[in-house]
Amino acid sequence: MQYVSTRGSAPVLGFADVVLAGLATDGGLYVPQSWPSLPADTSGTYAELAAAVFAPYLGGDISNETMLRLTRDAYATFRHPDVVPIVDLQPGHKLMELFHGPTLAFKDVALQLLGRIFDHILTERHEKVTIVGATSGDTGSAAIDGVKNCANVDIVILYPKGRVSDVQRRQMTTIDSANVRTVAIDGTFDDCQDLVKAMFNDAPFREKHNLSAVNSINWARVMAQVVYYVEATRRLAGPIDITVPTGNFGNVLSGWIAKQMGAPIRRLVVASNENDILTRFFESQNMNVTGVHPTLSPSMDIQVSSNFERLLFEMNGRDGGMTAAQLQRFRDRGLLNVEQDQYEQWIAPTFRAARANDHDTLSTIRSVYEETGMLIDPHTAVGVKAAREQAEDGVTMLTLATAHPAKFPDAVERATGIRPELPEHLADLFSKPERTNDLPNDLAAVEAFVANR
Ligand SMILES: *Cc1c(COP(=O)(O)O)cnc(C)c1O
Repeated sequence: MQYVSTRGSAPVLGFADVVLAGLATDGGLYVPQSWPSLPADTSGTYAELAAAVFAPYLGGDISNETMLRLTRDAYATFRHPDVVPIVDLQPGHKLMELFHGPTLAFKDVALQLLGRIFDHILTERHEKVTIVGATSGDTGSAAIDGVKNCANVDIVILYPKGRVSDVQRRQMTTIDSANVRTVAIDGTFDDCQDLVKAMFNDAPFREKHNLSAVNSINWARVMAQVVYYVEATRRLAGPIDITVPTGNFGNVLSGWIAKQMGAPIRRLVVASNENDILTRFFESQNMNVTGVHPTLSPSMDIQVSSNFERLLFEMNGRDGGMTAAQLQRFRDRGLLNVEQDQYEQWIAPTFRAARANDHDTLSTIRSVYEETGMLIDPHTAVGVKAAREQAEDGVTMLTLATAHPAKFPDAVERATGIRPELPEHLADLFSKPERTNDLPNDLAAVEAFVANR
């Protein structure tokens, strides 16, 4: 299996190179040259299913035996025997809980595996990397936890001082591993992101420290997420509809790939909060950029959904030049539209879209609690609201629960009067010592810190 860039002018690479590269050199995202089918045998544990689903994507870069060791290791960190259990919400509507990993959000499903894949490839190549990243909360803690035991990876995560929740900060700063550094920047999340971009644009610095990233466009993250869609369809009699709380379009893209591979999924419902660029696109065939509004579901507060580019490439008949030109116009004018026939072929049969504002989010948390006694987090609530609108009689609806309610306790308490408790494995989070470093919003200071870590 080889991988091509969505913008058509980067080298064709194999799996291991694609994982280490992240972004392609032409600014595009890597996709496999063709979509393989699901394995004939989808029995076994979640880790066994994962290794079987990945096999055709690896192109011999990692043996199936090694991959099975990595998936077993990664999913042993999840606190539920089913890894991603399914629970009933109401007749015909179920939730898949993706939050039983170490940091209580669905990003653990991909990042626990990605850390192990990185370390394995680097060991074979006798290389080391330094991952640098900026976080507004969820991604940083999941990335740190995913690499905390990796011998060949150092990680430095920047976060905006005083602007991440106590739980999110402590999940990063209480990890006691020699390869982990966290930095509180005197600035906003955008300042942190700008510092990271500037470090990557500083070629001598980037090469000297072998900088790397694990952001949501990394192919291995998208691939890892395909597995729980397959798991959903093997446990529920398909075809089913699946609702996905969406930000960067990474999670729902994985569902679309599972469908391409043959999983019996009928529709994918894209659920947005007030930052609804995708929902507006699915309704109007036009994508236009507006500002970002902070909401109660902050991990979905995005301006542009970066992984959408992979679907766009497909809609353009896998023409990279055409995709690159379209994205250039989008950057220049802030507007992107697709032809009616592209829409009819790719979007209309599969995708539905809906949105929830903060008021809807709170009332959905409240109604789920009143009806079932269950507490759900605000991101999951955006999904549940959308799913209830889009559900059809006779077709099972599954909503992906992307975070544990205790990760966003303020919103849950506002809606229900009950403050959700952290699960047992994190009960000591508030008594562990924190280790972090304060730095000004200054590139020279941050580069000196990374160099001296
Ligand atoms: C990251 C995140 C999302 C959005 O996922 P995308 O892959 O960006 O669409 C939704 N919910 C939670 C809790 C998240 O952490």
